[in-house]
Amino acid sequence: MITLRKINGFELERDIGELNQAIAQHYIWSSQLTTTALFHDSPDPEVMDTESHLHCRFSKWLAIRLRLKNVEDPEVKQIEERHAAMHASMRELLLAMQQGTLTRAQLQDYYADQRAFLDAIDRYKTELIALRNNHDALTGLPLRKLLYRDFPLLQKAVGRHAAPSLYLTLIDIDHFKQVNDKYGHTTGDAVLRELGSLLSMNSRSQDKTYRFGGEEFILLHVCDSDAAFNATLERLMAQIRAHNFITPTGTLQITVTCGAVHAVSDEALQTLIEKADRAMYLGKQQGRDRIIFCPHESQAPSHAGEAICW
Ligand code: GH3
Ligand code: MG
Ligand code: MG
Repeated sequence: MITLRKINGFELERDIGELNQAIAQHYIWSSQLTTTALFHDSPDPEVMDTESHLHCRFSKWLAIRLRLKNVEDPEVKQIEERHAAMHASMRELLLAMQQGTLTRAQLQDYYADQRAFLDAIDRYKTELIALRNNHDALTGLPLRKLLYRDFPLLQKAVGRHAAPSLYLTLIDIDHFKQVNDKYGHTTGDAVLRELGSLLSMNSRSQDKTYRFGGEEFILLHVCDSDAAFNATLERLMAQIRAHNFITPTGTLQITVTCGAVHAVSDEALQTLIEKADRAMYLGKQQGRDRIIFCPHESQAPSHAGEAICW
């Protein structure tokens, strides 16, 4: 099964907020060391525990990232290792302080471990922010740049298997300008947001949905046959047609026109998008609210028995 982990911009926003809180908690926790050293206090027993890295609040964030969400992220794993090393180093430092054997080298080691931990967090946070910036603020969907990043990976993964194929679909809302003109931009935005979630909710883990720009979306489907793909897309079209979009000016319905292509193994993404765009344009000319499918270079593209000239 080919799976690219799905995440949307809103989840990323929340992840960044949670990470910021975890970092703030780490700073509060670290300040204990200064207090203990300055006032010759007895260190908190939890800090001296060999498992102290599992008691602090930062570890709760790690537990969520690593276990609950089952993240196989090497960056997070590195944060976990450096976090444990930093705790071990602090424990040694406090022990040496209690025994009066503290050396400058030990303090330097602790600083180095602390810096390595914070560097790992910084790298991860920078990555999260860059990823969030490549998601659409309105729909939360990944943007064009991530389509260009994901496509070759998916194409390569699919290429290794005999049965499933990759299909690209360009979806364009019909007469969307009229929605804005008649009901206002806020209503138009609400429709885009709801269509975005309808598209991603109706896609399986191996499929991907992108906001390509304006009122256009791109879907990547992995299907076993042209027939299975057509059935999937027809089902989606029916759902969109039947859906009541809830907006600030009341509920309304929309239709979309789709241009779909079968992505053969080494075809460039740009070429496929151009083909899908031509197919979609033809669908508009033929009356909208339809799918125009181009199965293969060699095969005649079709919609309900109609052929397209390429
Ligand atoms: P067609 O059926 O031929 O596609 O007609 P259309 O009206 O959908 O196409 P057209 O290209 O004329 O208009 C697209 C409209 O989409 C115009 C633009 O204002 C609107 N649009 C693009 N992005 C957004 C957005 O983020 N929010 C809102 N509310 N409207 C948007
Ligand atoms: Mg358009
Ligand atoms: Mg349109």
